[in-house]
Amino acid sequence: MTTATISKKKTRRTRRILFILLPILLILVLGFSILFFFSHQNLLFRLQNDLAATFHKRSLPQTVSVSTYTIQLDDLLSDPNCTKNQALMLINDEYPLSDSFQPEISYYKDTDVQMNSCIQDAYATMSSAVREQFDVPLYVREAYRTAKEQEDKTEENSAVAAEVGASEHQAGLALDLYVPQFGGWAFTKSAAGRFVDTNCRDYGFIVRYPSYGEKQTGIPYEPWHLRYVGLPHSQIIMDEYLTLEEYIDLLEPGSFYQYGSYLISHQNGPAIDAPSGWKHVTVSEDNLGGYLFTWEL
Ligand SMILES: [Zn+2]
Repeated sequence: MTTATISKKKTRRTRRILFILLPILLILVLGFSILFFFSHQNLLFRLQNDLAATFHKRSLPQTVSVSTYTIQLDDLLSDPNCTKNQALMLINDEYPLSDSFQPEISYYKDTDVQMNSCIQDAYATMSSAVREQFDVPLYVREAYRTAKEQEDKTEENSAVAAEVGASEHQAGLALDLYVPQFGGWAFTKSAAGRFVDTNCRDYGFIVRYPSYGEKQTGIPYEPWHLRYVGLPHSQIIMDEYLTLEEYIDLLEPGSFYQYGSYLISHQNGPAIDAPSGWKHVTVSEDNLGGYLFTWEL
């Protein structure tokens, strides 16, 4: 047998081995990837959200021209069909709460958990939905935090905790949630956690520090930290993959945005443009010196 024939035979054998080994290798890689993501469903959930956010063209609802009349903010606030809350306050390092800020806090049902009064019904409905669908309780690890508690937390871990005034917990508007055995990073390892982080939009809550929003919020992903903003803002923010920073910034002062039967406007006052024929309005300070109005028609 010549050297050339031996070499040809060797090449053929190598090809045959490769032909058998490659598919096995591919199946193994695929199998391990599926197994990996199956046991780390929080990573898959995050990846899906990041991908969706990357390819989504972010936009606000259409602006509409409406007939309006002028009303003084104080007069509007004293209207029986007007609800004032703190739901849309932007609170962060750049816009901290003032020293004189008074959170509207109350105890949740008969627990010792204190949260902003405007959250309570929404949280009750969302936790009932979790209980109904997954047969697990949704717990609050932390809700309202006093300035002193925030200061202690910052001293404990300044790398993670927000400065005094810059935490939404001080307004009682944020909830750190968990379900049994799944808290913190592991929250979205549970089906209930993924349900909460996806469907919170329908209960008035947003994932305040989404994985795709770190550049805007300056805070890394926190799947457990939900923030109440109210309807329909939660739906717009979550569906458009926005952060609260971007949302408030995008709402042009003076414009009216229509979303279903809601009209949203961002105005400074004290003279307010009110759309004719509104039935109910919710007014929230924005913590930037202006107000957000959610008109129901
Ligand atoms: Zn938190």
